[in-house]
Amino acid sequence: MDKQWHKVLDIIKNQISSPNFRIWFAKTKIEQRTNGSLIVEVPSAFIKNTLINRYLPIIEDATKQVYGKKTAIDFKVNPRLIGYEEEVMVEFDLSQPQLDPVVYGLNPKYTLQNFVVGLSNNLAYAAAQAVIANPGLSYNPLFIYGGTGVGKTHLMQAIGNTLIKKTSNLKIIYCSSEKFMNDFVEGIQNKRTGDFRAKYRACHLLLIDDVQFFSGRDSTQEEFFHTFNELHTKNTQIVLTSDRPPNEIQKLEERLKSRFQGGLMVDIQLPDFDTRLAILKAKCLERGQHLAEDCLTLIAENMPTNARELEGKLIQILQTAKLQNTQITADFVRTFLKTPPTLIFKIGSKKVISSVTSYFDIKLSELIGPSRKKEYVLPRQLTMYLLYEECSIPYAKIGDILGGRDHTTILHGVDKIRQAVKRDREIQRILIEVKQIAIT
Ligand code: ADP
Ligand code: MG
Repeated sequence: MDKQWHKVLDIIKNQISSPNFRIWFAKTKIEQRTNGSLIVEVPSAFIKNTLINRYLPIIEDATKQVYGKKTAIDFKVNPRLIGYEEEVMVEFDLSQPQLDPVVYGLNPKYTLQNFVVGLSNNLAYAAAQAVIANPGLSYNPLFIYGGTGVGKTHLMQAIGNTLIKKTSNLKIIYCSSEKFMNDFVEGIQNKRTGDFRAKYRACHLLLIDDVQFFSGRDSTQEEFFHTFNELHTKNTQIVLTSDRPPNEIQKLEERLKSRFQGGLMVDIQLPDFDTRLAILKAKCLERGQHLAEDCLTLIAENMPTNARELEGKLIQILQTAKLQNTQITADFVRTFLKTPPTLIFKIGSKKVISSVTSYFDIKLSELIGPSRKKEYVLPRQLTMYLLYEECSIPYAKIGDILGGRDHTTILHGVDKIRQAVKRDREIQRILIEVKQIAIT
């Protein structure tokens, strides 16, 4: 099966530039249906959309050549094929003229159209619009700060997504400060700092998320300072986000602080009631779901919190109603507002375990086995945490499930993750993604 798909890929490879091939095709997989039609598995919805919108004729043509007849093709997103970000992080091929845009790390789901504007974020929104109208010229850098879940990443990505629609042939880089740092360190280790610089300094828009994590990273700060200066001199637009203003970031070089403050700084606050209600409505609409006004109001009133948590609660309510096949009434919603979220949304223990193993790509025997290697310990502790928090399974029972471990080991593991969740964004992200796999 795969052999023939490889032939298809070979044909395609000869027709498009190699960076594009690597971005859009390298991680595709094929399945054949009994009726002879094909399913192409791809790592993300973004890739799927691009393949359909841009490359479908080429794909159809190549499949016809290999399979000898016109074959119906469907696309299926399978995030396990590869981490989304990894997939789009390919090196620039500067030797070839780029006719297509090169985009690193942008997620098309974040747009200006689906960003709800209210009192808490209208300044940031206006600044984003100004940057889009005059990239590099109006405010450079644009520095957006605010607490977690208020929409910083969304707005920053929306700038990238809007600009790429407006102008063809753009090179846009979105990444977290950690990614920038890892790339830099890797560049040093592999003696490829030249490639690293070529990549980050040859773009038209640089979006760096959560720069507070540059704190204490001296050599990365130094490198970023030079990257920043070079781009700034060329009037390349830079957008940065942080959970706090530059002067409150500890262990950040003064010269970087002053660079960060040199453009426009805007903050995003927690949404007020009206904005919360509008966000809930927008999220319903996005999911094609309808919730009665009194239900939405109830949530907005009782959750004076950020957009991420609002969205999380909404999804929880929608999913549970679907599972239980019940109507969503105000009373139904009320039960969610009283109880801590984790107790309501029950995932089976098997599902938790299979989600963890597939997310980390490890075997069950490795997860429950004795090895204390780092790559097994984290998934194991996450499993303990999820089994405890999401499935309400007692420690001793979790010990049994995980290969006969003592209940104190489980207690320790659960506690470890519980502490980590409070401050470690990576752990927060992993938990969200694992849960996503578990409930889909
Ligand atoms: P931050 O980067 O500030 O932590 P995000 O940008 O990741 O927050 O936002 C968290 C979630 O809330 C995302 O799903 C995002 O789409 C949504 N969100 C945040 N603000 C808004 C908004 N104003 N309108 C619509 N959705 C929003
Ligand atoms: Mg963010």
